[in-house]
Amino acid sequence: MLSVVPPPVTAGAPAKVNLHLAVGDLRADGFHELRTVYQALSLSDRVRVQAAPALTVTVRGEGAAQVPTDRNNLVWKAATRLAHKAGMTPSVEIAIEKAVPVAGGLAGGSADAAATLVALDAFWRLDSSRADLVAIAAELGSDVPFALHGGTAYGTGRGENLLPVLARDTFHWVLALARDGLSTPRVFDELDRLRAHAAPPRCGDAEELLQALAAGDPARLAPLLGNDLQAAAVSLQPELRRTLRAGVDAGALAGVVSGSGPTCAFLCADHDSAIEVSAELSGAGVCRGVRLATSPAPGARVVADAG
Ligand code: ATP
Repeated sequence: MLSVVPPPVTAGAPAKVNLHLAVGDLRADGFHELRTVYQALSLSDRVRVQAAPALTVTVRGEGAAQVPTDRNNLVWKAATRLAHKAGMTPSVEIAIEKAVPVAGGLAGGSADAAATLVALDAFWRLDSSRADLVAIAAELGSDVPFALHGGTAYGTGRGENLLPVLARDTFHWVLALARDGLSTPRVFDELDRLRAHAAPPRCGDAEELLQALAAGDPARLAPLLGNDLQAAAVSLQPELRRTLRAGVDAGALAGVVSGSGPTCAFLCADHDSAIEVSAELSGAGVCRGVRLATSPAPGARVVADAG
C-alpha cells in the first residue's frame, strides 16, 4: 500500500503589544502576578511544517541568527508536546520565517509556538479542540495562549488566563526596534531591584482603558497606556528614554515600552500620522529600525502556503 505524505501546512501568528501591564510583587514561587491587556499586531511570523525524517527546525528572516534551532526553540517544545498528546512521532521539518524582532518584548517566540500548534494540528489532521490547544499553549509559556487567541484580551495569572475584550476599529502603531534585545527574566529582576529601593510607577486598574478600546478612540486610549516593566527596561537600556521622547516629538499620541522591551510602541492618530512618525523616527537615530503595524489582528491560523 502507498503511504501518502500530507502536503506542507503554513500558519501565521501575531506579535503582541501590552496596552496595560500591571505587575504584582514577587511571589514566593518566584513569579509575579500579572494583569494585562494584550492586543495582537499585524506584524506576524510564519511557520511551515512538512514531513521529514526527524524533527528539525530552520529559521530565516529578522534576527534569525539569534534564534536556536534545537530543543531550546519554543516550536520544538510545541511540536513534541502536541505529538506526545496525540500519540504521533514528530517527524517534521518546521521552517520559521521571522518578521517579529527577537527578544523585543513582542512575544515572537510565543507566536511561533502558537503557529506550530495550529499548523501541526492541521498537518496531522488531529482536529484538536480549541481548549486542548490552549492547554498545551499555556504549558509552553504565558504569552502562547494569547498568540493563539489574537484580537484583544485581558490576561491574568502569568498572562495565560484570558478573557476576550471588545475593541472597536483599527489602531495604528509605529514600532521602534532597539539595537539589542532584553531578556525577560532580567527585566523582572530589575523591577524587583527598583521596587526594593524606590517606588517606580504602577498602573492603576484597566477600567478606563477598556472603555477607550470599546469606543475605538486612539486619543482617549493614548494617555491610558501603561507598563510597570517600562521603568525596569529603561533602567537597563537608558537610551529608551530618548526613543520614547522622540516618538512623541514626531507626532505620536503616546509611546510605551512593549512588554519587557526594548521595542517601543507608538500609538498614532491614524495611518497618515503613523507614516509621518515612522519617517521621522527612522531619521532620528534613536532606534535600529521602525515597523508600521495595526491592531487588533487575528490569532494563529493556517494561511495559504507561499511555497
Ligand atoms: P518573551 O517575553 O517570551 O521572552 P520576547 O518577545 O522578549 O518574549 P522572543 O523573541 O519571544 O522574546 O524570544 C526570547 C528568547 O527566546 C530569544 O532570545 C531566543 O533565545 C529564545 N527563543 C526560543 N524560540 C524562539 C523563537 N521561535 N523565536 C525567537 N526566539 C526564540
